[in-house]
Amino acid sequence: KYHEEMAKRKKLHNIVQETKGNIRVFCRCRPLSKVETSSGFKCVVDFDGANDGDIGIMNGGTTKKTFKFDRVYTPKDDQAEVYADASPLVTSVLDGYNVCIFAYGQTGTGKTFTMEGTERNRGVNYRTLEELFKIAEERKDTVTYNISVSVLEVYNEQIRDLLATSPSSKKLEIKQAGEGSHHVPGIVEAKVEDINEVWDVLQTGSNSRAVGSNNVNEHSSRSHCMLCIMVRAKNLINGDCTRSKLWLVDLAGSERLAKTDAQGDRLKEAQNINRSLSALGDVISALASRSSHIPYRNSKLTHLLQDSLGGDSKALMFVQISPSDNDASETLSSLNFASRVRGIELGPAKKQVDTAELQKFKQMLERSKQEVKLKD
Ligand code: ADP
Ligand code: MG
Repeated sequence: KYHEEMAKRKKLHNIVQETKGNIRVFCRCRPLSKVETSSGFKCVVDFDGANDGDIGIMNGGTTKKTFKFDRVYTPKDDQAEVYADASPLVTSVLDGYNVCIFAYGQTGTGKTFTMEGTERNRGVNYRTLEELFKIAEERKDTVTYNISVSVLEVYNEQIRDLLATSPSSKKLEIKQAGEGSHHVPGIVEAKVEDINEVWDVLQTGSNSRAVGSNNVNEHSSRSHCMLCIMVRAKNLINGDCTRSKLWLVDLAGSERLAKTDAQGDRLKEAQNINRSLSALGDVISALASRSSHIPYRNSKLTHLLQDSLGGDSKALMFVQISPSDNDASETLSSLNFASRVRGIELGPAKKQVDTAELQKFKQMLERSKQEVKLKD
């Protein structure tokens, strides 16, 4: 059993580490809730092939549709297990790669549970920072790391800084500061020194998400919550300097508009959400067809993710699903979308060299060599 598990892990590690690879897609199904059980809803998801990445869904009682992913989690798989699989990708940000991880799916399927988690059952966001600090500590004699985080929300195509202590009077916009370097001038970049500071920062972000909205759940299902971890690394042995970032994104609910009776402001929100989710779909299609123009700028979401989605970077999508027959049509539509995503081949990932910093660092090394010579 142990060897089987290790072989499985190794296989997965190779899939995840392959530099020339697809966008990885992990599928996670939440348990049937108490309410669903007591209302008589049934599980329509088949996990028999879960170990091989296969998942089936009963479509209208008789026919079964199956899908293949890089990993399938049953409702019993816990947070630690899920994180262990994402970990190799996460840690490659320390080696200078841009990475993007996002959770996609209908509202109520566990996107926030997977990414944020709860204090007792922490999710990918916290575990990521925990591991980054652990590795940074292990490497401290050879590499100096500088880690900071920003937490943003995109709601109605507007960016809100969830770490800002007072609301900004100016509209936050995305600017390009050089090739592969988009940023939002004026947002808080909280420098985090160790893991003890992280939970508070993440909670601040999470708490301000609902501020000003009268329905917390509705607000979170209609906005994208985006955590950006920025890493600067200086290798003290070979002089390498990199500057990379990792986006961890809890997307708005993917449910189709028809199911919600949207009117007025509500309709505008829904259209904007659909706009950015469909813009994400368009970016993914363009990447898949190796189009020369990738339409990142059609939404705030894709514009923000531009440096970390496609091209030189590594990406992972969690497709979150409900097991209930009541949600089967949304589940099918999510799985179809996720299958298309999985088919995309990205080029080889590339390290994000920090040229300016590298130059300074090389000069400094040169100077200290000269000084040593002078002393001799
Ligand atoms: P979403 O963010 O997609 O709307 P949530 O993360 O809020 O969904 O999850 C909906 C509910 O289901 C929450 O009460 C959450 O705790 C629960 N849940 C989701 N995934 C799991 C899981 N894998 N195991 C146990 N409970 C889960
Ligand atoms: Mg949520």
